[in-house]
Amino acid sequence: MFTMKLRKASAAAAAAIVLSITATACGGDGDSDSNSGSGGGDKIKIGIKYDQPGLGLKEPGGYSGFDVDVATYVAKELGYEPNQIEWVETKSADRENALARGDVKFIAATYSITDERKQKVDFAGPYLLAHQDLLVKTDSDITEATDLNGKNLCSVQGSTSAQNVKNDFAPKANLKENGTYSECLAGLQSGAVDALTTDDSILAGYAAQEQYKGKFKLAGLKLSNENYGIGVKKGDTETVNKINAALEKMVKEKAWDKAVTDNFGPANYKNEPAPKIGVIVK
Ligand code: GLU
Repeated sequence: MFTMKLRKASAAAAAAIVLSITATACGGDGDSDSNSGSGGGDKIKIGIKYDQPGLGLKEPGGYSGFDVDVATYVAKELGYEPNQIEWVETKSADRENALARGDVKFIAATYSITDERKQKVDFAGPYLLAHQDLLVKTDSDITEATDLNGKNLCSVQGSTSAQNVKNDFAPKANLKENGTYSECLAGLQSGAVDALTTDDSILAGYAAQEQYKGKFKLAGLKLSNENYGIGVKKGDTETVNKINAALEKMVKEKAWDKAVTDNFGPANYKNEPAPKIGVIVK
């Protein structure tokens, strides 16, 4: 599940675009009822990441990851079967705007709850606690954040990871900000980049990918607390409440544990226990 064949993936992406255009042309989507969840045939649009194995990954055969499983469970509780879900890629920097525009009903995309983001969107959850870490080459001598000053560091625009580096951990690092984390991997492999920084949950997924096995390691630093929430449009309290109830049920029914085992098991990611709804670990 961790192998991604790029040529096939882009062919699948093209097919998916054709499908979604067809769906729109048939009038099966985009009207105000499409998110009500009451009737058959309606679709729900959900934002995820497409390039984060173990969390949100688009592959030729479909979508996988912990965020995908959480979102699928939540959608079901909102009245949507898996075949009624239309996945939308929401990159880190696009998430607030995607919600404000109404492109998606909710976002489950390694989306940390922060005070700054709460000015623009509402959050249900949290449903996972991760920590910022570093991914480096196996033989790297970078062991802590201060080692990064003067080094080439890669992260993503609009992420807490990039923000924390600039404000806090390594303001003198030479930070390159891409649109997605997977864009940092080639540079890490070639040596153009000394470290990739983001949540340990994401980095563990990359390190476990077949093509990178044995090449990269996590530094094992808990540089921050990243409380993953489900983002919804600002003011949509009804949806927040419904999603919180769904998340509580998912944990109670142990579907949360199953999603953890299924998705983090292959990367051997040691996750934190299920968070309590409404409790943010600062
Ligand atoms: N969880 C962090 C954030 O929301 C980093 C991962 C990401 O960019 O999605 O910014």
